[in-house]
This record gives sequence, structure tokens and C-alpha cells, in this order.
Amino acid sequence: MKCPYCDNPDTKVVDSRPTDEGQAIRRRRECEDCGRRFTTYEKIEEIPLIVVKKDGRRQVFDRNKVRSGIIRACEKRPVPMGEIEKIVTEIEKGLSNLMLKEMDSTIIGEYVMEQLKDLDDVAYVRFASVYRQFTDAESFRSEVEKLLDGAKKRRRGGSGAGAGGAGGSRSKGEATDK
Ligand SMILES: [Zn+2]
Repeated sequence: MKCPYCDNPDTKVVDSRPTDEGQAIRRRRECEDCGRRFTTYEKIEEIPLIVVKKDGRRQVFDRNKVRSGIIRACEKRPVPMGEIEKIVTEIEKGLSNLMLKEMDSTIIGEYVMEQLKDLDDVAYVRFASVYRQFTDAESFRSEVEKLLDGAKKRRRGGSGAGAGGAGGSRSKGEATDK
């Protein structure tokens, strides 16, 4: 780091401590030439996720919006807030791992649906119905029938697959674990 007083490139760190609850590091540096001291801050670079809406408008990704969409879908469902918070974090993580400068709002919707599918059937259908904007009753019904079909098979179970049943109780277990 160049000295701001004499432009000498050789400066040394004389003190280093976290600030802002660990969000930044504050360093005191001393110029090896003129001996003057100055302060630098090291921070994590925050790269905002930019969401492109259907009409082309751009917005910064807002996890609160994702959360409230999920809460609405989970209304009166036995889904603990902790689980919702967990999937919001999961979605945010997934999106930032894509390393895209901009992303279509539809990608976020797909991520939400993927997570809700495992969490709660009803919440999933509710979200999908709003999100995919089922234009005809037909596609909505077939989505619901698919889910009901899956649920029936799960209930009958026994014969082999046995993968079902566990689904619902698993998420409950995880929620109370912590
Ligand atoms: Zn200097």
C-alpha cells in the first residue's frame, strides 16, 4: 500500500484489528520512508445479485422478498420458520454460486420450487400456481394430480420403495434437532 503522503510504496502494518463485528479489518500502517501513519480497511467485496424481471427491469436480489413469497405459500402449513429460513439461505447460496452478473427472475422461481417440493406439497403447489401463472385450469390440475398420486403411492408403500413416508417426518426432525 502506497503512502498517501509521500507516495513511497513501502509501508508496514503496525496494528491490525477487526471492526464492525468482524465485517472488516482495520490496519494502521506506517510509511518506511517518511514515518507517517495512516489507516486502511479490508472488507469483503459484496457483489450484488442482479435480477432481471419479466419486463426487463433490473433489481438487486432481495432475500426478504423470497422469504415472504415462501411464507405466503406455507400459510397454515406445518412448516417451521427455521425450515423456511434454511431454504432461503440455500436458494441464496445456490444463486450466488452461479456466478452470474445478472439472472432471470425465473431462475429464482425454479430454485424456490425445487426447495418447496421437498418441504411441503401444498406449499409447493401454491407457489407453483402463482409462479408459473397456470393459465389454464388443466395444467394446474395435472400438477396437483401428480402430487396426489405420489402421496397415495407413499401411503400404500410397504411393498418396496419405502422412500416415501420418511419425507414428511424427516424435515420435522431436522427442524427440531437444532
Ligand atoms: Zn511516506
